[in-house]
Amino acid sequence: MTLDFLGSTTRTHRCGELRAADAGKPVVLMGWINRRRDHGDLIFLDLRDRTGITQVVLDKSLSGHDALAKAEASRPEYVIAAIGKVRLRDESLVNPKMPTGAIEVLATELLILNDAKTPPFSPADDAIQNEEMRLKYRYIDLRRAEMQQNFLVRHKVNQAIRQTLSDEGFLEIETPFMTRSTPEGARDYLVPSRVHPGTFYALPQSPQIFKQILMISGFDRYFQIARCFRDEDLRADRQPEFTQIDLEMTFPTQDQVFAVVERFLTASFAAVGETINTPFLRMSYDEAIRKYGIDKPDMRLPAMADLTEVLTPELRTTLKIEQKLPVLGFVIPSVGELSGTARKSLLSEVRASFGDSGLDLLDLVRLRTAEQFVPLADAISEKLNAELAAFNGSSLTTNDLAVVVTPKLETPEMWNFDRQWIWKRVGQLRLELAKKYADKHGLFEKKGTPEDYKFLWVTDFPMYEWNEEKKTWDAAHHPFTSPHEEDIISGALFNDKGAVRASAYDVVLNGLELGSGSIRIHRKDVQAEIFRSLGMSDEEAKERFGFFLDALEYGTPPHGGIALGIDRIVMLLAGAQSLREVIAFPKTAKAIDLMVDAPSHATDMQLKELHLRPTVRT
Ligand code: ASP
Repeated sequence: MTLDFLGSTTRTHRCGELRAADAGKPVVLMGWINRRRDHGDLIFLDLRDRTGITQVVLDKSLSGHDALAKAEASRPEYVIAAIGKVRLRDESLVNPKMPTGAIEVLATELLILNDAKTPPFSPADDAIQNEEMRLKYRYIDLRRAEMQQNFLVRHKVNQAIRQTLSDEGFLEIETPFMTRSTPEGARDYLVPSRVHPGTFYALPQSPQIFKQILMISGFDRYFQIARCFRDEDLRADRQPEFTQIDLEMTFPTQDQVFAVVERFLTASFAAVGETINTPFLRMSYDEAIRKYGIDKPDMRLPAMADLTEVLTPELRTTLKIEQKLPVLGFVIPSVGELSGTARKSLLSEVRASFGDSGLDLLDLVRLRTAEQFVPLADAISEKLNAELAAFNGSSLTTNDLAVVVTPKLETPEMWNFDRQWIWKRVGQLRLELAKKYADKHGLFEKKGTPEDYKFLWVTDFPMYEWNEEKKTWDAAHHPFTSPHEEDIISGALFNDKGAVRASAYDVVLNGLELGSGSIRIHRKDVQAEIFRSLGMSDEEAKERFGFFLDALEYGTPPHGGIALGIDRIVMLLAGAQSLREVIAFPKTAKAIDLMVDAPSHATDMQLKELHLRPTVRT
């Protein structure tokens, strides 16, 4: 087929724009053929671009011969220009589901600007099952309305963030991709240097050190929509490169950082029509663990209840419950009354999931059948009831699922080195059961109110985590996080590591960590002590971070900041199921880009230039 040239033909409208009021207008539309229907006398071409679809019609009695022949020859995904006039559709043919459904364009002339092979799947289809196919032919996949919408959301979120931060005096500054290792707890991606044989640049795991140096340089407030590279074992919701909104401020209080984040999140959500409540709730890490068993509580569910006191030493002896360990319970509301069989099978399912961890369940229903235990069952119900009331004002009924977890006699070994273990395990069970009964309680469903978004600040994380295998203290965050000032003053930093709190905070939404940050160390002596306490010799610290330790000596102001994952925020706002739906060119769970086929082998020549030998050690 001969293709037409665009020449000076100019598009007058987008495919989603025309309405009844435009009837009679001469127009030129350009786009892809979404679907084509040939009815003999009439040929319909649904013309698609980013903004929507318009029905173009060719009529044997009204359109030119040339235009008709082209319409006959055209196929889905051909790129065409339709030149003609807008006309109202007959009343009976109006399509209320399409924004342009009241009109159609009667084409007098068509330009076929490009043809197209039959695509492996049609962008006109909603659900395409084969994700590998979608990723391989990403350019076709991205044509789908759903994907175009996701990237519109992403664009709006980015713009809202930029606007808000710029209005608040933040400067957008770019930091390098080719740099030194920036520790965030993952492996580095390395780039070999051709000019300096045997040396490597590292891709940044985050702009952390650079943004701190920008504060030392007096920029006062910095932000960047920054790409970060982390070579981690991939999980479903991770990507080897991802985007953060990264910011840093000079002389900040924690409250100021929180306020800035709340403002740009309010603006980003508003940009896509969602309202959120501010200020966000705040909770210390200790409280989060005690009440939710996790450092990112999902506040759409009631908290756990501590039943430790209720289980007196005598009752524990009778019920074979370990004396010194906590007993915890929780409620999953509105699950509906379980039949005896359903209850028993749930109990055995959960018991099986506990394995030999030393945990067991107390069957409240059975407990009530023995007179001697009725007061205990009542006391437990009262505690659970209090948590439910605090959550949504309701009181416990047989429709609510009450779960009580007890430690068996003989302390579980885990307990010896992770004192939070029972809380965490019960917290995990709380989430598992909430998921299992999600259809019943409906608490994860969006209702179109600000209550859909339960934001939370988690503060006062521990500074160190004990590494039982290596018998060392590991940094719980990157090593530039400041300990609480009081814990430096009290000497705990030097002699009671487990008690040191970090000035670190996370922002959490509906049980997902959206971002984390901290007030930083701005004193060289404290920074040196942190490196030392992490088992880094002064020489090693100098070799890895000498430039930064030097910079700290030239007048470093107190500073702090945060970074939030943009991919995840957009995913939530777009209602997408995976990060891959909101990243234009994502990698698979095995870190492969199926479209460009990366990673790939380098040629011998390239390797030679890089002074590398093509040997793969396995
Ligand atoms: N660099 C940190 C991160 O990527 C965020 C921060 O501390 O600002 O998690």
